[in-house]
Amino acid sequence: MDTYNPSYAYQHGESNSQSTFDALFAVAATPEQPAVPSQPKDDLSVVSHNIRRDAEGALNMGTEIIIIHVGDGDEQKEFVVHKNLLIKHSEYFQTMFRTDNWEEAKRGEVELETDDPEAFELFHQFVYTGCVFSQKQGDTARAVDEVNRTEEAGAAAGSADQSDRDSEMGRLCRAWELGQKLMSTSFKDAITDTMRSKVRAGEIPMHANAWIYPRSPENAAMRRLLVDIAVWYWNSPAFLEQKQYSERYHEYFYDIAVASDKLHLLRMQNASQHPISPIENGHSCFYHEHETDSTVCYRKMF
Ligand SMILES: [Zn+2]
Repeated sequence: MDTYNPSYAYQHGESNSQSTFDALFAVAATPEQPAVPSQPKDDLSVVSHNIRRDAEGALNMGTEIIIIHVGDGDEQKEFVVHKNLLIKHSEYFQTMFRTDNWEEAKRGEVELETDDPEAFELFHQFVYTGCVFSQKQGDTARAVDEVNRTEEAGAAAGSADQSDRDSEMGRLCRAWELGQKLMSTSFKDAITDTMRSKVRAGEIPMHANAWIYPRSPENAAMRRLLVDIAVWYWNSPAFLEQKQYSERYHEYFYDIAVASDKLHLLRMQNASQHPISPIENGHSCFYHEHETDSTVCYRKMF
């Protein structure tokens, strides 16, 4: 029997930044080519669409600054953030700063000892830019080991095992967990989009469920994304590999069974067509939570 190799998917997700750079350089060095590299028209239209905004939507950072200490001991990192942005993106901080009862609100300093500094760094960058800077040098090269280590982290059943710290997928899982704690719909929605983008690039997570399911409510959009990943992208050996988790994460496998049945019906009804996954084909807010809690989509915040 063939052995399923979870690293296969990762091999298709290599960043093309180097090749893009090479392409730009090649254009500039060849006299008969135009000096300006050609770009897809869509890219240009997106830029022109986003650059001009209504002044009403301008970022109001205010003047108050909060210092946030994240992590414990040598791992601790300090972040300086505008209070208005914390309030804008987190119900946790809204509650903290909009009542006078919290000692942190009076001091202007917050301790988040049990949280992951790397996850908070992603949140910090996100509230200022609307982007998730989760890709790091060497992620792809270490993918095989990272998958195995993430698996061990999952097997630790909820312990905050940091051994998969170099993996982008592990990084995104911990960032989502932080978003859940901070009650930040915008950040969580941005994380599901980032994971969705990875899947579309061929980087299929195999163990994110082991981290997310014990830390998420039943109606979490991230759960829905992970179920769709399994149903649409995993093959039989991939499911067999999950056997080790079947006792612990029965909710996940129940959700997969239900989703598989729906997909089976869809295939029966559209026998002549090959159905396309909602990860590829769904609308841009398909895995967002803002529609259920009536907040604004993060895409409209930046
Ligand atoms: Zn949305």
